[in-house]
Amino acid sequence: MRGIALFGKIRFLDTTLRDGEQTPGVSLILEEKVDIARALDDIGVDVIEAGSAATSEGERQSIRAISASGLDAEICSFARAVIRDVDNALDCNVDSVHLVVSVSDLHIERKLRSDRTSVIRKAVEVTEYAKEHGLIVELSGEDASRADLDFLVSLYEAGIRAGAERLCFCDTVGVLRPEITSDIFSRLSQLGVPVSIHCHNDFGMATANTIAALRSGAAQAHVTVNGIGERSGNTSLEEVVMTLESLYKVSTGIKCQQLYQLSRLVSRLTGIPLAPNKAIVGENAFTHEAGIHVHGLLADTATYEPMPPEIVGRKRRIVLGKHAGRASVELALKDFGFAVTEDQLAQIVTRVKDLGDKGKRVSDADLQAIAEIVLSIQKEPRVRLNELTVVAGNTVTPTASVKLQLDGLEKLEAGTGVGPVDAAINAIRRAISGVADVRLEEYHVDAITGGTNALVEVWVTMALADRKITARAAGADIIMASVEAVLEGINRLMQLDDKAENARNRLHASKN
Ligand code: MN
Repeated sequence: MRGIALFGKIRFLDTTLRDGEQTPGVSLILEEKVDIARALDDIGVDVIEAGSAATSEGERQSIRAISASGLDAEICSFARAVIRDVDNALDCNVDSVHLVVSVSDLHIERKLRSDRTSVIRKAVEVTEYAKEHGLIVELSGEDASRADLDFLVSLYEAGIRAGAERLCFCDTVGVLRPEITSDIFSRLSQLGVPVSIHCHNDFGMATANTIAALRSGAAQAHVTVNGIGERSGNTSLEEVVMTLESLYKVSTGIKCQQLYQLSRLVSRLTGIPLAPNKAIVGENAFTHEAGIHVHGLLADTATYEPMPPEIVGRKRRIVLGKHAGRASVELALKDFGFAVTEDQLAQIVTRVKDLGDKGKRVSDADLQAIAEIVLSIQKEPRVRLNELTVVAGNTVTPTASVKLQLDGLEKLEAGTGVGPVDAAINAIRRAISGVADVRLEEYHVDAITGGTNALVEVWVTMALADRKITARAAGADIIMASVEAVLEGINRLMQLDDKAENARNRLHASKN
């Protein structure tokens, strides 16, 4: 196939901590940046752009901490073509600078109020300075996609003579198109040093343009986790990696099975949720609802999935609603360990559709409850709430105390949190911690009606070991609805755990 042979060894420069952190509203503290850098190093990126050393003392402390973390990746700082920026980078003990120079006439004339000759002179001066001080230099053309290509090439050539080891082509406002990118990189890849591609996603073309550049000789892709970044964001790491691995059969050296975990980490620490339909890492990327598709999936998962979810460290999810067919309900039941007859299955499907018709998405806990009613195997919940007290206000740490019944024994515990809901959930988790280490993985609230007396619906995803389930509760009191959803989730998880335990015991007994 044409193209495949064109790929050389592809490197990744991850700029989640620099361009990604320029996402409006995102500001990471030192420990969070170090956590993300470690995860990036672990997954196998080649270069980590840890920040922009000229920004602030706080930023420098974070970059220093990452430089001192003993990571395998090359640690890089963003720098403008200013000697002081290189000094700041040196002060952070980085290996390299991503030295960014404006190259479009628009930027040179309107932003810098300068001219092409001065820009080249400055780029050469700062490159030489960085080289004299032992830094690797990646000389980068800002707004390169709107620059005169002949001028850009002359700047790059001057940079190479001054000692730059690598070059970078920035599509700063995301206006590249794949066929143009291919033409440009066919020329740039003749310059004799590795050239990077740095794309933005203003037209949703960042991944396509990055792949086009890599196919035409680009040696390194600039990416961010989840595609976060200014405006519509940057090229996303997971999209480029999986496109190369899955569609072009190119081995990237990235540990793909850790992609989802990394995505969750970055989403949690930056506070930027993912669109459900985000490629590879969005909630719905491996979630199925319609009955007819699930029928196909049961026969062969490849029918409606371009790749197995396990490749990126995920699991397939079957979501039930009014479109639920017998096949999807049966599959979900099997997953929870329920064996049903044809007649029982028909009854369960009817009840699931009833709930779906009322506009509800059916949670895992809903399905289990329905199955238990139909199979007449309802069990007492192991955890019951007797009392809950929450204290919150502007001058107190939100604190909750709970009294609950756990396997018939009374438990009293207290917890604090960032808010009353967090405090209540922490108190409950503590109270049951001796029996089960249940984690709250996702929490979502919808106001169903308007006003401060709105009815809210709380959705939670709870996990126990590697088992996850969803549960929901609704009510006018957001704290009580949250607590009910969490308790429902805990009880369901503990029941599944009991089932697994029983199965293990049976197996053991039959062996003896
Ligand atoms: Mn950028």
